[in-house]
Amino acid sequence: MTQKPFFLAAEGVNKSFDGFKAIRDLNFYLEEGELRTVIGPNGAGKTTFLDLITGRTQPDTGKIEFQGVHDLSALSEHAIYRLGIGRKFQTPTVYTDHTVFENLVLSLSGSRGVFASLFFKLKSTQRDRIEEILKTINLSEHTHRKAGTLAHGQKQWLEIGMLLAQEAKLLLIDEPAAGMTDVETARTGELLLSLAGKHTIVVIEHDMVFVRQIAQGRKVSVLHQGSVLCEGPVDQVQSDERVIEVYLGRKHAR
Ligand code: ADP
Ligand code: MG
Repeated sequence: MTQKPFFLAAEGVNKSFDGFKAIRDLNFYLEEGELRTVIGPNGAGKTTFLDLITGRTQPDTGKIEFQGVHDLSALSEHAIYRLGIGRKFQTPTVYTDHTVFENLVLSLSGSRGVFASLFFKLKSTQRDRIEEILKTINLSEHTHRKAGTLAHGQKQWLEIGMLLAQEAKLLLIDEPAAGMTDVETARTGELLLSLAGKHTIVVIEHDMVFVRQIAQGRKVSVLHQGSVLCEGPVDQVQSDERVIEVYLGRKHAR
């Protein structure tokens, strides 16, 4: 019997910065449709791992496979983006002077740069798609507002919507709850849960209330000193002594 290949597989990945090993013999496997939460103390290498997947930086050794592409490191950042890997950085990077609607138009897959995208006529299917995304991210009532005037949480949702418009197959989301109110955080959790299964998502997060909301019944990976320390259901991970020692004893976790 042949085994189903992983959607994403990182194997034996190492990355040093000036002699400091940010990523160390990292092995990480993800199946299609998973919503995987990655936790770990500051400096564990979480953001660097996303940088390696998206081609922002290259591994020293090891490889990252994605949907039949054997080694992402051979590709440019743009080529990786075009394979369908979308990333949300910790701070929102929306076009503040454009409306919510325009931000989504600019992200539509196949769009041709800012000027062309804003002035070409949308097909009705594209318009419908944007309407649907607006509903998903709960911004239908803010369609024509300039993105710069949105609340912090709304900007984050818009950015997630932009990944959807881009038709990203893999969504990489770095600390979405940072700086959010409790209500915004809970809404973000609902949003990610509504996307699970339809999309494959990796969420990096510190806020354990939020992690427990999105990770029930799912696998959580704990990163420590650039490697996966342990993986499993959220309850198991939270009661693992190694995890308690390196992470859960710290101020971010409970
Ligand atoms: P996390 O996201 O888990 O907090 P990071 O991946 O941001 O951790 O960082 C892991 C380590 O790698 C940190 O010590 C950080 O200073 C270092 N690092 C990350 N990116 C760079 C870079 N571009 N240049 C130098 N050091 C870096
Ligand atoms: Mg980080």
